[in-house]
Amino acid sequence: MTASEDSLFDSCCCGRFSQQTLTIDPTPVEADAQLSVAEVISRMAAANRSYALVLVGQQLTLFTYQQAAQATTDNLDLALTQVGKVAVPLPDTVVKPPAALCHQAQERFQIDPFDRLPVVNQARQLVGILTRQGLHSLSLPAAANSLRQPALEQAVSALAAPEPPLCLPDRDLQAREERLRIALKGARMGTWDWDLAQGAMVWSEGQERLFGLSAGQFDGRFETFLGMVYGEDCDRVRHVLEVAIQACQRYDLEFRIVRPDGSQRWLSSRGKVFAQNKRPTRLAGVTLDITDHKRAEAELQRQIQRERIIGELAQRIRQLLDLDSILDQTVTAVRQFIEADRAIILQCGPAMSGQVIKESRDPKYPSMMEWTIRDPWSVDEKYLNFYRQGRGLAVDDIHTQRLQPTQLQFLEYFGIQAEVVVPLLHDQTLWGLLVVHQCDRPRLWQTADVRLLQNLATQVSIAIQQARLNHDLRQANEQLKKIAFLDGLTQVANRRRFEQYLSQEWRRLAREQAPLSLIMCDIDYFKNFNDIYGHQAGDGCLRRVARALSRSIKRPADLVARYGGEEFAVILPGTDLAGAESVAEDMRIAVRSRRIPHAGSQIETFITLSLGVATCIPAPSGGPEMLIGRADEALYRAKHTGRDRIVLAS
Ligand code: GH3
Ligand code: MG
Ligand code: MG
Repeated sequence: MTASEDSLFDSCCCGRFSQQTLTIDPTPVEADAQLSVAEVISRMAAANRSYALVLVGQQLTLFTYQQAAQATTDNLDLALTQVGKVAVPLPDTVVKPPAALCHQAQERFQIDPFDRLPVVNQARQLVGILTRQGLHSLSLPAAANSLRQPALEQAVSALAAPEPPLCLPDRDLQAREERLRIALKGARMGTWDWDLAQGAMVWSEGQERLFGLSAGQFDGRFETFLGMVYGEDCDRVRHVLEVAIQACQRYDLEFRIVRPDGSQRWLSSRGKVFAQNKRPTRLAGVTLDITDHKRAEAELQRQIQRERIIGELAQRIRQLLDLDSILDQTVTAVRQFIEADRAIILQCGPAMSGQVIKESRDPKYPSMMEWTIRDPWSVDEKYLNFYRQGRGLAVDDIHTQRLQPTQLQFLEYFGIQAEVVVPLLHDQTLWGLLVVHQCDRPRLWQTADVRLLQNLATQVSIAIQQARLNHDLRQANEQLKKIAFLDGLTQVANRRRFEQYLSQEWRRLAREQAPLSLIMCDIDYFKNFNDIYGHQAGDGCLRRVARALSRSIKRPADLVARYGGEEFAVILPGTDLAGAESVAEDMRIAVRSRRIPHAGSQIETFITLSLGVATCIPAPSGGPEMLIGRADEALYRAKHTGRDRIVLAS
């Protein structure tokens, strides 16, 4: 089988079998038994040797690449395992033949004795031939088994024979096979070779290992192979191989397999079809385990996906304009996204305190809402400084943190076992903290998660800032609106607001077909008041009357407005004539009862009001002008029938 690995290797690299031979200095690496396997392997690799002569005590022994491979298979820790413990005992103590003998052999047989090294035991008997594959014992007749030239001759000629009894393969091929095998194993690779005529498939040990089989377990059937391919990938694998065979070309495949233990692996296989007389005879390939690569790829995809989600989330949050929704969305999304048990927003207060103002949690764990936190990583000055620089913190396990018993108690009360804290900055000061808790177990936080949280926190900080600005702007707008609709002197609605509100209510009540009442009122003999007490006192009087009128209305929809000069208008939506008359009467009495002295009045000694009241059910086609006219007319009649009275429009 290994031969096909080698040939495949060549065919893949050069497209033909290599005729090149490696020239390797045959001197073995020398080592002693104290050295680690790893060290000896690296020395062998560095010197391009396939064996080392190891001094164990006083004796020389052998350590071959095969043994190195064995040590790897046995899962030994190569850096700790000494070579002397790994080397398999050889049939006889191997010694280096004397230099003189080597010299002699070289001269006599025209071969490099180190290439195929005769090995003698301590009794100086020839016990075998040492090649790069290790020691090949010679079972020679006893008579020949001594260090005599015929024995040596026999041994060497045996090696030269076309079919040597020792079946020693070409030294370069063997050496390369060994190296390849180790390389394949290290790379989690396997090879396969499918004889299309015979139908038999040969798998390397590495290939069997990739499929979770032990050496020699694979039965050589294509169906067995296909049976291990993951269901969904089966047709594709079969199809690609069929096409490659038909077209006598290369193939390149990625597919999943299910090992006998149920685990799933991703494999990549590539190779080619070999043909004779244009007929496909053989299909051979290299298989590589790419599960880790696939996992990393999937993880990368997941990461990209997560970053996209966070990006969208940040954008959504930044579009929100009120703080409450921003914080609400943040904790909910973060908890879901990080798959944590609780996410809270802690608002930093004075003296290193922090209050939980938002929370999303698994109902299994107690709420922290409105708690003032004493979490060691949230209020400790050391960490606060850290957060002020915009940096986050991840605690994988609170039990490894050397905490005070009270701190531990606090955390345990809320079930906190691990947490991540990222700062929310506002105007370069620490506004608050976004804290994520894992409650059911400690958690090794992923750097990527913490980084994403930090990015999100930056976006949330911007959103908070925007919300603040928006809030201030809204307040300013409201203030402006108030000013625009307010009478500066009396602080009741102005004429503009009166007109706007009256037509608005007109339309509404027209739809509802409900009554709308209007009271127009005017201070009696006010010109005289100004004349006697002065204009400023007149203004003061207007303010007092406006206050008295405002206090007389009871419903939120009622509106008192300064209609002009010393005239006021009162809009009473949904109020009939009787109701309006009663309000008007309350107003008249309210002003009278203030007893604002008025020496210029011809009817009283204090300020009085005349009022005209009109009511209608608004018509959808008309406007409120008619109602104003009627109320005005009623007021006019009140003036002309004695003042200090109410007249109802007919
Ligand atoms: P009548 O009983 O018929 O209503 O008599 P009157 O004197 O009140 O007559 P009229 O309503 O015509 O008088 C309006 C006066 O109100 C004129 C002006 O001196 C006074 N006046 C109007 N606007 C203001 C104001 O903003 N401040 C002050 N101090 N006086 C105002
Ligand atoms: Mg007037
Ligand atoms: Mg008047």
